[in-house]
Amino acid sequence: MNQKDHMDYAVELDIAVKPTTPVPNLGAEYGYYVGAGNPLFSVGGGVLRTALKHVLHKYHARKGYYVVETPIIARTTLYELTGHLKFYKENMFLLNIEGDEYAIKPMNCPFHVLIFMNLLQKYSSKVKLPFKIFETGTVHRYEIAGALRGLLRVRAFTQDDAHLFSPEEHVEASLMEVFEMMKDVYEKLFYIPVTSETVKLRLSLSDKSKIGEEFMGEPEMWEFAEEKLFKVAEEVKRKYGIEFFAEEGEAAFYGPKLDVVVYEEGGKEWQIGTAQFDFNLPKRFKLHELIKETHGLDANLYMIHRALLGSLERFLGIYLEMFKGRLPFSLAPLQVLVIEITTGNEEVDKKIKELSSKVVNSLKENEIRVASLTSTKTHLSRDVRKVESTVKPPLILYIGGREAEESAVVARPYDHNKRRREQMKLKADEVLKVIEEMERGVVELAGAPVRVPADPSYMV
Ligand code: ZN
Repeated sequence: MNQKDHMDYAVELDIAVKPTTPVPNLGAEYGYYVGAGNPLFSVGGGVLRTALKHVLHKYHARKGYYVVETPIIARTTLYELTGHLKFYKENMFLLNIEGDEYAIKPMNCPFHVLIFMNLLQKYSSKVKLPFKIFETGTVHRYEIAGALRGLLRVRAFTQDDAHLFSPEEHVEASLMEVFEMMKDVYEKLFYIPVTSETVKLRLSLSDKSKIGEEFMGEPEMWEFAEEKLFKVAEEVKRKYGIEFFAEEGEAAFYGPKLDVVVYEEGGKEWQIGTAQFDFNLPKRFKLHELIKETHGLDANLYMIHRALLGSLERFLGIYLEMFKGRLPFSLAPLQVLVIEITTGNEEVDKKIKELSSKVVNSLKENEIRVASLTSTKTHLSRDVRKVESTVKPPLILYIGGREAEESAVVARPYDHNKRRREQMKLKADEVLKVIEEMERGVVELAGAPVRVPADPSYMV
Protein backbone atom coordinates (compact mmCIF):
# COMPACT_ATOMS: atom_id res chain seq x y z
CA MET A 1 0.00 0.00 0.00
CA ASN A 2 1.25 3.47 -0.87
CA GLN A 3 2.02 5.70 2.07
CA LYS A 4 -0.17 8.76 2.32
CA ASP A 5 1.43 12.17 2.08
CA HIS A 6 0.20 15.40 3.66
CA MET A 7 -1.98 16.27 0.67
CA ASP A 8 -3.85 12.95 0.99
CA TYR A 9 -4.58 13.76 4.62
CA ALA A 10 -5.52 17.34 3.73
CA VAL A 11 -8.05 16.04 1.20
CA GLU A 12 -9.52 13.42 3.56
CA LEU A 13 -9.91 16.04 6.30
CA ASP A 14 -11.49 18.44 3.79
CA ILE A 15 -8.70 20.93 4.39
CA ALA A 16 -7.51 21.54 0.85
CA VAL A 17 -8.38 20.74 -2.75
CA LYS A 18 -5.84 18.69 -4.68
CA PRO A 19 -4.89 20.69 -7.80
CA THR A 20 -5.05 17.56 -9.98
CA THR A 21 -8.71 16.88 -9.12
CA PRO A 22 -10.95 17.42 -12.16
CA VAL A 23 -13.54 20.20 -11.92
CA PRO A 24 -16.94 18.65 -12.76
CA ASN A 25 -18.16 19.32 -16.30
CA LEU A 26 -15.46 21.83 -17.21
CA GLY A 27 -12.89 19.46 -18.65
CA ALA A 28 -10.02 20.88 -16.59
CA GLU A 29 -8.48 20.44 -13.17
CA TYR A 30 -8.73 22.83 -10.20
CA GLY A 31 -5.04 23.62 -10.50
CA TYR A 32 -5.64 24.77 -14.08
CA TYR A 33 -7.79 27.61 -12.77
CA VAL A 34 -6.10 28.33 -9.45
CA GLY A 35 -2.49 28.18 -10.59
CA ALA A 36 0.52 26.30 -9.32
CA GLY A 37 1.72 26.75 -5.75
CA ASN A 38 -1.45 28.59 -4.77
CA PRO A 39 -3.25 26.28 -2.35
CA LEU A 40 -7.05 26.23 -2.49
CA PHE A 41 -8.26 25.58 1.02
CA SER A 42 -11.66 23.95 1.41
CA VAL A 43 -14.21 24.79 4.10
CA GLY A 44 -12.59 22.43 6.62
CA GLY A 45 -9.32 24.27 5.92
CA GLY A 46 -11.16 27.53 6.51
CA VAL A 47 -12.29 26.35 9.92
CA LEU A 48 -8.78 25.16 10.79
CA ARG A 49 -7.11 28.39 9.65
CA THR A 50 -9.66 30.56 11.46
CA ALA A 51 -9.15 28.63 14.70
CA LEU A 52 -5.35 28.57 14.36
CA LYS A 53 -5.13 32.30 13.64
CA HIS A 54 -7.42 32.98 16.57
CA VAL A 55 -5.17 30.99 18.94
CA LEU A 56 -2.08 32.74 17.59
CA HIS A 57 -3.61 36.22 17.75
CA LYS A 58 -4.81 35.77 21.30
CA TYR A 59 -1.57 34.17 22.42
CA HIS A 60 0.63 36.89 20.96
CA ALA A 61 -1.59 39.65 22.30
CA ARG A 62 -1.33 38.08 25.76
CA LYS A 63 2.46 38.06 25.37
CA GLY A 64 2.55 41.79 24.74
CA TYR A 65 2.61 41.75 20.93
CA TYR A 66 0.46 44.17 18.96
CA VAL A 67 -1.52 42.26 16.33
CA VAL A 68 -1.81 44.02 12.98
CA GLU A 69 -2.97 43.42 9.41
CA THR A 70 -1.12 44.94 6.48
CA PRO A 71 -1.87 45.31 2.75
CA ILE A 72 -1.19 42.55 0.22
CA ILE A 73 0.35 44.89 -2.32
CA ALA A 74 2.54 47.97 -2.04
CA ARG A 75 4.28 50.36 -4.38
CA THR A 76 7.67 49.10 -5.36
CA THR A 77 9.09 52.28 -3.83
CA LEU A 78 8.71 50.45 -0.51
CA TYR A 79 10.81 47.55 -1.76
CA GLU A 80 13.36 49.90 -3.27
CA LEU A 81 13.78 51.33 0.20
CA THR A 82 14.19 47.90 1.80
CA GLY A 83 16.53 46.63 -0.90
CA HIS A 84 14.23 43.79 -1.91
CA LEU A 85 13.79 45.17 -5.40
CA LYS A 86 17.52 44.97 -5.91
CA PHE A 87 18.26 41.67 -4.19
CA TYR A 88 14.98 39.78 -4.27
CA LYS A 89 13.26 40.92 -7.47
CA GLU A 90 13.27 37.52 -9.16
CA ASN A 91 11.08 36.16 -6.33
CA MET A 92 8.57 39.00 -6.44
CA PHE A 93 5.32 39.32 -8.37
CA LEU A 94 5.09 42.80 -9.89
CA LEU A 95 2.03 44.64 -11.18
CA ASN A 96 1.46 47.83 -13.07
CA ILE A 97 -1.40 49.98 -11.80
CA GLU A 98 -2.11 53.25 -13.62
CA GLY A 99 1.50 53.50 -14.67
CA ASP A 100 2.80 52.88 -11.15
CA GLU A 101 4.75 49.76 -10.33
CA TYR A 102 3.41 47.69 -7.45
CA ALA A 103 4.57 44.44 -5.88
CA ILE A 104 2.63 41.72 -4.13
CA LYS A 105 4.34 41.61 -0.76
CA PRO A 106 6.98 38.89 -0.42
CA MET A 107 7.29 39.72 3.30
CA ASN A 108 5.46 41.71 5.94
CA CYS A 109 8.44 43.36 7.64
CA PRO A 110 8.51 46.69 5.75
CA PHE A 111 4.91 47.40 6.75
CA HIS A 112 5.65 46.57 10.37
CA VAL A 113 8.59 48.98 10.36
CA LEU A 114 6.38 51.72 8.91
CA ILE A 115 3.74 51.14 11.59
CA PHE A 116 6.42 51.26 14.30
CA MET A 117 7.85 54.47 12.85
CA ASN A 118 4.44 56.12 12.75
CA LEU A 119 3.82 55.21 16.40
CA LEU A 120 7.17 56.68 17.40
CA GLN A 121 6.38 59.80 15.45
CA LYS A 122 2.97 60.19 17.12
CA TYR A 123 3.61 58.97 20.65
CA SER A 124 7.37 59.33 21.00
CA SER A 125 8.83 57.73 24.15
CA LYS A 126 5.40 56.53 25.28
CA VAL A 127 5.94 53.66 22.84
CA LYS A 128 7.50 51.00 25.05
CA LEU A 129 10.61 49.11 24.04
CA PRO A 130 11.10 46.31 23.21
CA PHE A 131 8.28 46.84 20.72
CA LYS A 132 6.69 43.63 19.45
CA ILE A 133 4.39 43.49 16.43
CA PHE A 134 2.65 40.39 15.04
CA GLU A 135 0.67 39.44 11.98
CA THR A 136 -0.61 36.29 10.36
CA GLY A 137 0.43 37.83 7.07
CA THR A 138 -0.10 36.32 3.66
CA VAL A 139 2.83 36.73 1.28
CA HIS A 140 3.56 35.63 -2.27
CA ARG A 141 6.93 34.58 -3.57
CA TYR A 142 7.87 33.24 -6.94
CA GLU A 143 9.36 29.75 -6.88
CA ILE A 144 10.03 27.76 -10.01
CA ALA A 145 7.22 25.33 -10.78
CA GLY A 146 9.54 22.34 -10.38
CA ALA A 147 10.28 23.26 -6.76
CA LEU A 148 6.63 23.40 -5.67
CA ARG A 149 5.34 20.61 -3.47
CA GLY A 150 1.85 20.28 -1.97
CA LEU A 151 1.58 22.60 1.02
CA LEU A 152 5.27 22.26 1.87
CA ARG A 153 6.58 24.52 -0.88
CA VAL A 154 4.11 27.03 -2.29
CA ARG A 155 3.98 30.47 -3.85
CA ALA A 156 1.24 31.87 -1.59
CA PHE A 157 1.53 31.41 2.15
CA THR A 158 0.70 32.92 5.50
CA GLN A 159 3.46 33.53 8.01
CA ASP A 160 3.01 33.77 11.77
CA ASP A 161 5.28 36.73 11.48
CA ALA A 162 6.51 39.05 14.17
CA HIS A 163 9.15 41.74 14.51
CA LEU A 164 10.87 42.82 17.67
CA PHE A 165 12.59 46.15 18.07
CA SER A 166 14.80 45.88 21.06
CA PRO A 167 17.49 47.97 22.76
CA GLU A 168 20.69 46.07 23.49
CA GLU A 169 19.93 45.33 27.12
CA HIS A 170 16.68 43.51 26.29
CA VAL A 171 17.87 41.45 23.33
CA GLU A 172 18.76 38.35 25.30
CA ALA A 173 15.50 38.25 27.28
CA SER A 174 13.52 38.92 24.09
CA LEU A 175 15.19 35.99 22.33
CA MET A 176 14.67 33.71 25.29
CA GLU A 177 11.00 34.64 25.27
CA VAL A 178 10.81 33.78 21.57
CA PHE A 179 12.23 30.32 22.22
CA GLU A 180 9.84 29.75 25.12
CA MET A 181 6.92 30.81 22.97
CA MET A 182 7.96 28.25 20.37
CA LYS A 183 8.11 25.58 23.03
CA ASP A 184 4.75 26.66 24.37
CA VAL A 185 2.97 26.53 21.03
CA TYR A 186 4.60 23.31 19.83
CA GLU A 187 3.79 21.47 23.04
CA LYS A 188 0.47 22.94 24.11
CA LEU A 189 -1.23 23.33 20.78
CA PHE A 190 0.46 20.63 18.69
CA TYR A 191 1.80 18.01 21.14
CA ILE A 192 5.24 18.21 19.53
CA PRO A 193 7.60 17.54 22.46
CA VAL A 194 10.48 19.99 22.80
CA THR A 195 13.14 17.92 24.54
CA SER A 196 16.78 16.99 24.20
CA GLU A 197 15.73 14.00 22.10
CA THR A 198 13.43 15.80 19.70
CA VAL A 199 14.85 19.29 19.17
CA LYS A 200 18.13 21.07 18.47
CA LEU A 201 18.93 24.72 17.94
CA ARG A 202 20.95 25.73 14.90
CA LEU A 203 22.87 29.01 14.93
CA SER A 204 23.67 30.45 11.52
CA LEU A 205 26.60 32.81 11.96
CA SER A 206 28.81 35.06 9.86
CA ASP A 207 32.23 34.30 8.54
CA LYS A 208 34.25 36.82 10.56
CA SER A 209 36.70 37.43 7.76
CA LYS A 210 33.91 38.58 5.45
CA ILE A 211 32.12 41.11 7.66
CA GLY A 212 31.80 44.36 5.77
CA GLU A 213 31.77 42.53 2.44
CA GLU A 214 29.52 39.48 2.27
CA PHE A 215 27.97 40.27 5.66
CA MET A 216 26.80 43.87 6.00
CA GLY A 217 27.24 46.11 9.01
CA GLU A 218 29.83 46.72 11.67
CA PRO A 219 31.79 43.89 13.29
CA GLU A 220 30.56 45.00 16.76
CA MET A 221 26.94 44.43 15.76
CA TRP A 222 27.68 40.93 14.53
CA GLU A 223 29.73 40.18 17.60
CA PHE A 224 26.98 41.42 19.89
CA ALA A 225 24.19 39.56 18.08
CA GLU A 226 26.11 36.29 17.79
CA GLU A 227 27.14 36.44 21.42
CA LYS A 228 23.49 36.89 22.37
CA LEU A 229 22.49 33.89 20.25
CA PHE A 230 25.13 31.77 21.99
CA LYS A 231 24.00 32.97 25.40
CA VAL A 232 20.39 32.12 24.65
CA ALA A 233 21.36 28.72 23.23
CA GLU A 234 23.37 28.01 26.39
CA GLU A 235 20.50 29.10 28.58
CA VAL A 236 18.13 26.83 26.63
CA LYS A 237 20.59 23.98 27.08
CA ARG A 238 20.91 24.63 30.80
CA LYS A 239 17.17 24.96 31.36
CA TYR A 240 15.78 22.35 28.96
CA GLY A 241 18.74 20.14 28.06
CA ILE A 242 18.41 21.04 24.39
CA GLU A 243 21.64 20.98 22.39
CA PHE A 244 22.74 23.53 19.82
CA PHE A 245 25.20 23.64 16.98
CA ALA A 246 26.68 26.57 15.07
CA GLU A 247 27.29 26.91 11.35
CA GLU A 248 29.76 29.59 10.44
CA GLY A 249 29.24 31.50 7.21
CA GLU A 250 25.58 30.41 7.03
CA ALA A 251 24.05 33.71 8.21
CA ALA A 252 22.03 35.88 5.86
CA PHE A 253 23.96 38.93 4.63
CA TYR A 254 21.89 41.12 6.98
CA GLY A 255 22.26 39.19 10.26
CA PRO A 256 22.76 35.91 12.14
CA LYS A 257 19.86 33.64 13.12
CA LEU A 258 18.67 30.85 15.34
CA ASP A 259 16.48 28.02 14.04
CA VAL A 260 14.59 25.31 15.86
CA VAL A 261 15.08 21.95 14.20
CA VAL A 262 12.65 19.17 15.10
CA TYR A 263 13.80 15.57 14.68
CA GLU A 264 11.19 12.91 14.04
CA GLU A 265 11.49 9.28 14.91
CA GLY A 266 12.89 7.65 11.81
CA GLY A 267 15.34 10.46 11.16
CA LYS A 268 13.31 13.09 9.32
CA GLU A 269 14.24 16.62 10.36
CA TRP A 270 12.22 19.80 9.99
CA GLN A 271 13.32 23.35 10.52
CA ILE A 272 10.32 25.10 12.01
CA GLY A 273 10.76 28.20 14.19
CA THR A 274 13.25 30.92 13.41
CA ALA A 275 14.58 34.14 14.91
CA GLN A 276 16.69 36.32 12.66
CA PHE A 277 18.63 39.50 13.38
CA ASP A 278 18.38 42.25 10.79
CA PHE A 279 20.99 45.01 10.56
CA ASN A 280 19.74 46.08 7.15
CA LEU A 281 16.18 47.37 7.62
CA PRO A 282 16.83 49.60 10.68
CA LYS A 283 19.59 51.26 8.69
CA ARG A 284 17.53 51.73 5.55
CA PHE A 285 14.58 53.15 7.47
CA LYS A 286 16.89 55.35 9.56
CA LEU A 287 15.41 53.86 12.70
CA HIS A 288 18.43 54.69 14.82
CA GLU A 289 18.03 58.38 14.10
CA LEU A 290 14.35 58.26 15.00
CA ILE A 291 14.74 56.25 18.18
CA LYS A 292 17.52 58.57 19.30
CA GLU A 293 15.09 61.47 18.96
CA THR A 294 12.14 59.75 20.64
CA HIS A 295 13.86 57.65 23.32
CA GLY A 296 17.24 59.32 23.60
CA LEU A 297 18.69 55.92 22.82
CA ASP A 298 22.26 56.25 21.70
CA ALA A 299 23.06 52.55 21.63
CA ASN A 300 21.92 50.21 18.90
CA LEU A 301 18.31 49.23 18.41
CA TYR A 302 18.14 45.63 17.23
CA MET A 303 15.48 44.33 14.90
CA ILE A 304 14.58 40.65 15.01
CA HIS A 305 12.27 38.79 12.61
CA ARG A 306 10.73 35.70 14.10
CA ALA A 307 8.16 33.04 13.26
CA LEU A 308 7.10 30.22 15.56
CA LEU A 309 5.60 28.01 12.86
CA GLY A 310 7.15 29.57 9.76
CA SER A 311 4.30 29.42 7.29
CA LEU A 312 0.94 27.99 8.25
CA GLU A 313 0.82 25.99 5.02
CA ARG A 314 4.24 24.40 5.37
CA PHE A 315 3.77 23.75 9.06
CA LEU A 316 0.39 22.13 8.40
CA GLY A 317 1.97 19.94 5.72
CA ILE A 318 4.72 18.87 8.14
CA TYR A 319 2.22 18.31 10.91
CA LEU A 320 -0.13 16.18 8.84
CA GLU A 321 2.77 13.91 7.91
CA MET A 322 4.18 13.87 11.44
CA PHE A 323 0.86 12.88 13.03
CA LYS A 324 -0.64 11.06 10.04
CA GLY A 325 -3.59 13.42 9.80
CA ARG A 326 -4.39 13.47 13.54
CA LEU A 327 -5.18 17.13 14.18
CA PRO A 328 -5.47 18.65 17.66
CA PHE A 329 -9.02 18.96 18.95
CA SER A 330 -9.27 22.73 18.50
CA LEU A 331 -8.15 22.60 14.86
CA ALA A 332 -9.85 19.48 13.48
CA PRO A 333 -12.69 20.31 11.06
CA LEU A 334 -14.75 17.45 12.54
CA GLN A 335 -14.12 17.49 16.28
CA VAL A 336 -16.63 15.01 17.66
CA LEU A 337 -18.36 12.08 16.00
CA VAL A 338 -21.27 10.44 17.77
CA ILE A 339 -21.78 6.86 16.64
CA GLU A 340 -25.19 5.38 17.28
CA ILE A 341 -25.00 1.60 17.46
CA THR A 342 -28.53 0.56 16.63
CA THR A 343 -29.88 -2.82 17.67
CA GLY A 344 -32.90 -3.50 15.42
CA ASN A 345 -35.19 -3.25 18.45
CA GLU A 346 -37.40 -0.27 17.65
CA GLU A 347 -37.86 0.88 21.21
CA VAL A 348 -34.17 0.65 22.11
CA ASP A 349 -33.13 2.34 18.87
CA LYS A 350 -35.50 5.19 19.56
CA LYS A 351 -33.81 5.75 22.92
CA ILE A 352 -30.38 5.61 21.27
CA LYS A 353 -31.42 8.24 18.71
CA GLU A 354 -32.90 10.42 21.41
CA LEU A 355 -29.77 10.36 23.53
CA SER A 356 -27.59 10.91 20.46
CA SER A 357 -29.47 14.02 19.36
CA LYS A 358 -29.43 15.31 22.92
CA VAL A 359 -25.64 14.98 23.02
CA VAL A 360 -25.21 16.45 19.52
CA ASN A 361 -27.43 19.43 20.31
CA SER A 362 -25.72 20.20 23.56
CA LEU A 363 -22.30 20.13 21.83
CA LYS A 364 -23.60 22.35 19.03
CA GLU A 365 -24.84 24.81 21.63
CA ASN A 366 -21.27 24.91 22.90
CA GLU A 367 -19.99 25.63 19.37
CA ILE A 368 -18.35 22.23 18.99
CA ARG A 369 -18.15 20.84 15.45
CA VAL A 370 -20.05 17.58 15.77
CA ALA A 371 -21.66 15.03 13.47
CA SER A 372 -23.40 11.72 14.04
CA LEU A 373 -23.33 8.42 12.26
CA THR A 374 -25.68 5.46 12.51
CA SER A 375 -24.12 2.01 12.55
CA THR A 376 -24.95 -1.49 13.79
CA LYS A 377 -23.01 -4.04 15.83
CA THR A 378 -22.23 -5.92 12.63
CA HIS A 379 -20.98 -2.94 10.68
CA LEU A 380 -19.38 -1.02 13.53
CA SER A 381 -15.77 -2.02 13.01
CA ARG A 382 -15.99 -1.39 9.25
CA ASP A 383 -17.57 2.02 9.81
CA VAL A 384 -15.05 3.02 12.47
CA ARG A 385 -12.15 1.89 10.28
CA LYS A 386 -13.42 4.15 7.51
CA VAL A 387 -13.75 7.13 9.85
CA GLU A 388 -10.30 6.51 11.36
CA SER A 389 -8.67 6.37 7.95
CA THR A 390 -10.32 9.55 6.65
CA VAL A 391 -11.91 12.25 8.85
CA LYS A 392 -10.19 11.21 12.11
CA PRO A 393 -12.35 13.02 14.67
CA PRO A 394 -10.29 13.70 17.82
CA LEU A 395 -13.24 12.51 19.93
CA ILE A 396 -15.57 9.61 19.14
CA LEU A 397 -18.61 8.94 21.32
CA TYR A 398 -20.43 5.61 21.16
CA ILE A 399 -24.03 5.17 22.14
CA GLY A 400 -25.52 1.67 22.15
CA GLY A 401 -28.52 0.14 23.89
CA ARG A 402 -26.86 -0.06 27.28
CA GLU A 403 -25.60 3.53 27.11
CA ALA A 404 -29.07 4.76 26.12
CA GLU A 405 -30.48 2.93 29.13
CA GLU A 406 -27.95 4.54 31.47
CA SER A 407 -27.91 7.94 29.74
CA ALA A 408 -24.18 7.41 29.26
CA VAL A 409 -21.65 7.37 26.41
CA VAL A 410 -18.43 5.52 25.74
CA ALA A 411 -15.88 8.25 24.95
CA ARG A 412 -12.73 7.60 22.95
CA PRO A 413 -10.58 10.75 22.86
CA TYR A 414 -7.37 10.63 20.81
CA ASP A 415 -4.27 11.12 22.93
CA HIS A 416 -1.52 12.74 20.85
CA ASN A 417 1.19 11.96 23.39
CA LYS A 418 0.41 8.24 23.43
CA ARG A 419 -0.67 8.30 19.80
CA ARG A 420 -3.73 6.22 20.47
CA ARG A 421 -7.26 6.55 21.74
CA GLU A 422 -8.23 6.34 25.36
CA GLN A 423 -11.51 4.81 26.39
CA MET A 424 -13.86 5.78 29.19
CA LYS A 425 -17.50 5.55 30.03
CA LEU A 426 -19.24 8.62 31.33
CA LYS A 427 -22.60 10.24 31.82
CA ALA A 428 -23.89 11.95 28.69
CA ASP A 429 -23.84 15.34 30.40
CA GLU A 430 -20.13 14.96 31.24
CA VAL A 431 -18.91 14.97 27.65
CA LEU A 432 -17.94 18.61 27.86
CA LYS A 433 -15.47 17.74 30.64
CA VAL A 434 -13.58 15.44 28.28
CA ILE A 435 -13.58 18.21 25.68
CA GLU A 436 -12.30 20.76 28.18
CA GLU A 437 -9.45 18.41 28.97
CA MET A 438 -8.61 18.20 25.23
CA GLU A 439 -8.70 22.00 25.00
CA ARG A 440 -6.50 22.58 28.03
CA GLY A 441 -3.34 23.46 26.09
CA VAL A 442 -5.19 25.97 23.93
CA VAL A 443 -6.76 27.55 27.01
CA GLU A 444 -3.27 27.98 28.47
CA LEU A 445 -2.16 29.74 25.30
CA ALA A 446 -5.24 31.76 24.39
CA GLY A 447 -6.78 32.26 27.84
CA ALA A 448 -10.03 30.62 26.76
CA PRO A 449 -11.11 27.78 24.49
CA VAL A 450 -11.10 28.67 20.79
CA ARG A 451 -14.31 27.44 19.23
CA VAL A 452 -15.28 28.07 15.63
CA PRO A 453 -18.73 26.64 14.98
CA ALA A 454 -19.38 24.90 11.67
CA ASP A 455 -21.60 22.03 10.58
CA PRO A 456 -19.25 19.20 9.55
CA SER A 457 -22.01 16.62 9.05
CA TYR A 458 -21.29 16.52 5.29
CA MET A 459 -17.99 14.81 6.12
CA VAL A 460 -19.48 11.53 7.32
ZN1 ZN B 1 10.42 39.98 8.74
